[in-house]
Amino acid sequence: MKKPLQIGTVAAACGERVKGKLFVGEFSTGTEVYLPVVILNGAQDGPVIWVNACVHGNELNGTLAAQKLARELDPRDIRGAVVITPISNPLAYREKKRLSFLEGNYGMGENCNMGEVFPGRMDGCMTEKLAFVLLEEIKKVAAAVVDFHCWGYGQESKPYTVIKKYPDEKISREIFAIAKAFGSKMICTLDLTRKLDEPSPVDRQMDVLCAEAGIPSFMAETGHSERAEPEYIDFAAQGAINVMKYYGVLEGEVPANDDAIELKSRYVIRCKHDGLAIAQVGPHEFVKKGTVLSLVYNAYGDVVEEVRAPFDLYTVSLPYMPNVNGGERVAFVGIAE
Ligand SMILES: [Zn+2]
Repeated sequence: MKKPLQIGTVAAACGERVKGKLFVGEFSTGTEVYLPVVILNGAQDGPVIWVNACVHGNELNGTLAAQKLARELDPRDIRGAVVITPISNPLAYREKKRLSFLEGNYGMGENCNMGEVFPGRMDGCMTEKLAFVLLEEIKKVAAAVVDFHCWGYGQESKPYTVIKKYPDEKISREIFAIAKAFGSKMICTLDLTRKLDEPSPVDRQMDVLCAEAGIPSFMAETGHSERAEPEYIDFAAQGAINVMKYYGVLEGEVPANDDAIELKSRYVIRCKHDGLAIAQVGPHEFVKKGTVLSLVYNAYGDVVEEVRAPFDLYTVSLPYMPNVNGGERVAFVGIAE
């Protein structure tokens, strides 16, 4: 008989779906902080797939996709188990913000963005405790982790996955394989063995710490922040199901997804002038060197800058919020080699 699966104090017997709370800590007010967790413990032995969402509190398509999986997957169909943490940053989620009152520039300094504090620590602020408790439980049981995110505020894109390339080629290959199975048509590989041009630091992101523990993991960027978009929610849920199929946790074919584009480096393209930057290309387009990516208009409506592609590239995301300061991002792009 297969053993129960225990996450914190929450335990699910063989063939059971159990919802519970994973204790994290207590505020000065005495208010306790928990992570909601759903365990779907299959009837047969097999790997544990962990689906996480909402490290950033306004990235809700992932939460809704995780909840859909929690509702709709049947433990009787599962070989192994599925663990779901739909709201991994309950503080920011409750405030309806990307970062909670403890993060960003508020209390604990810029480095306290939950997305960038892993492995966390128990002698830190509540955000660091959340990261610590989550990662510790993941490390005990998970064979792979899907981490749902959404595009940053003001950014337009199509679903894509972000993976990292590590010196360890075996785990790098497996991460690429599950990102491909997930089904996004763009896979952004961040090569941690090289210098990166990323909008934020990546070395303390959850998937990096998972990989260090030998657990393949990737980030799936699925839709806009601050919205509930049925198309992207369904896509994200199906993507996680594809990963479960890859590991044999669910039965069925994994889509080949051979036409996915892999970007091997990414770059932030910035404007020089203040103004309104209007994108001239869409997301996930191939663009030749010299093509105008964005036109910047001054206060009088004159074009003061044409921001051109510095090389042949693919667009990843473009801002739909046009108001820019000089030096701000007007396109996020990548190249396939
Ligand atoms: Zn995020």
